[in-house]
Amino acid sequence: MLLTIATTHKPATDLGYLLHKHPNNVQSFPQPYGLARVFYPEATEERCAIALLMEVDPIALVRGRKDKSDDSFGLRQYVNDRPYVASSFLSVTLAKVFRSALSGKCTDKPELVATKLPLEATVSVLPCRGGEALLYRLFEPLGYQVSANRHPLDPEFADWGDSPYYTVKLKHDLTLKELLTHLYVLIPVLDDEKHYWVGDDEVEKLLAKGVGWLENHPEKDLIALRYLKHRRSLARNALERLIEEDLDEIEAREDSRETEESRLEEKISLNERRLQTVGDILKEEAVTRVVDLGCGEGKLIKKLLADRQFEKILGMDVSYRTLERASQRLHLDRLPPRDANRIELIRGSLMYRDKRLSGYQAATVIEVIEHLDPSRLAAFERVLFEFAKPDIAVISTPNREYNVLFENLPADKFRHRDHRFEWTRQEFRDWANAIEARFGYKAEFRTVGPENKRLGSPTQLGIFRL
Ligand code: SAH
Repeated sequence: MLLTIATTHKPATDLGYLLHKHPNNVQSFPQPYGLARVFYPEATEERCAIALLMEVDPIALVRGRKDKSDDSFGLRQYVNDRPYVASSFLSVTLAKVFRSALSGKCTDKPELVATKLPLEATVSVLPCRGGEALLYRLFEPLGYQVSANRHPLDPEFADWGDSPYYTVKLKHDLTLKELLTHLYVLIPVLDDEKHYWVGDDEVEKLLAKGVGWLENHPEKDLIALRYLKHRRSLARNALERLIEEDLDEIEAREDSRETEESRLEEKISLNERRLQTVGDILKEEAVTRVVDLGCGEGKLIKKLLADRQFEKILGMDVSYRTLERASQRLHLDRLPPRDANRIELIRGSLMYRDKRLSGYQAATVIEVIEHLDPSRLAAFERVLFEFAKPDIAVISTPNREYNVLFENLPADKFRHRDHRFEWTRQEFRDWANAIEARFGYKAEFRTVGPENKRLGSPTQLGIFRL
């Protein structure tokens, strides 16, 4: 795996001082997992580039590993992408080989440490799990100009499709310390596979390395979770210390979802009908830009993606795990770029005003409101109707009256244990009327699923137009 860092700062060879590596030398740094070499492919006053070449030895990786049982495929420990791609091995090497630069020390020219330099980093093979879009979402908010070149799985067999591997160039005017720090944290985040055990001290490392940029990064949640190898408690700890939020409490409740409710409703494939109805409404209204709030595993998004009328689809959910599943179901890492550009998944809460939700013609909130605490419903109403303010909002929720027709549902129970309430048709109408009065929307009501004369349909749906 190869990382090069170049600058056109004058004199460019100052890079050698900052990195404490002389441009005339090739140096080797043996590591427990292979050999790192540092050399300068280019070193003039105008332009200077340093290369860090890390040769990971797959045999060395396996040696000394006691537990090999997690390998379902016995050869995987020898045959894998680790030697060739940028991963946490590169981060660890970088931290060792460029230790002084990473900690902001430069003995000979201390003034260079705080100087913003025109820098360009090239990572020759970077795995972007979660798709190319994630690459931009991680680096662009930090000010980088990002270019990426995706590699096919095998150029000889075009129909095997693309690999998750990219050659990535990052350009920005910033200090070398900042560049190294961003690479150190974000390369393993993109690779999403850490080679060493992640424990409490990793939280400290992340917080230390994140100072000054992570707390305001729009993807800070994803960065923490992936950096800490999906150890949720650690990620929560890190995030709480960056900024307090109550997302996780909400998320914990949500994770158990799916099962009960869908089992109950599946006989009439209510879910499918619901999505169909919502899709039809959006089509009737000639919507092109839509945000799906509480998108869950992305069932609606999948449907919309198949129709080119929808040019931009944003999915938001509070639950990481759900979003990861959505990303898998939607094959986000394999979509052709023109589709990948149409879709974006973000983590967020319906309780918080969020700029990212503005500018959409339509918002859908499908089987979500009943998961919100009634005391927080007012916050959600403002987030949607006052701040996000789409021209049209489609909101669905169970009709409680219909519950007696579900064979396996005891009379006093909701369809799902996490539901905070389930409304009768009248209750839904009352709520909708209050929305009309307060926010100037006009509501129209529809139903989804088989109609019972007395009890109505299992799902009630409101279309709110501005
Ligand atoms: N709309 C999807 C999922 C409905 S389940 C579908 O119809 O299939 C409810 C979803 O709302 C869950 O994925 C849950 O994580 C999400 N959710 C619950 N509270 C939320 C909140 N405060 N902010 C954002 N999403 C929330």
